[in-house]
Amino acid sequence: MKFCTHCGSEINDNAVVCIKCGCAVECKNVSSPSYHSENKASASLILGIVGIIFAWLFALVGHITSIIGIILGIKEYKETEKMTGLVLSIIGEVCSIFSSIIGAVALSSVF
Ligand SMILES: [Zn+2]
Repeated sequence: MKFCTHCGSEINDNAVVCIKCGCAVECKNVSSPSYHSENKASASLILGIVGIIFAWLFALVGHITSIIGIILGIKEYKETEKMTGLVLSIIGEVCSIFSSIIGAVALSSVF
């Protein structure tokens, strides 16, 4: 026998929902797992993707978005251990660096 975490009634060990109050037995554990971090995860992900795209259009914009993405990505990795956003932002920054070098070489060959 275990007890409902919501109303304290005795409930069957295999029960998923309390028969007295109708509350799910796992109620307390469900409490929205770090929704805020999920938002941050997509933020650095988007910044990384934007960084990769802008790297080839405007290297400066690519640098800025990628660096912000890396900062958010590091925070996010510490909180959620997901490094997709961080990796994408690093790729964005690498693309920006390459783009800058290519741009500089192209400019120096023109002038
Ligand atoms: Zn209950």
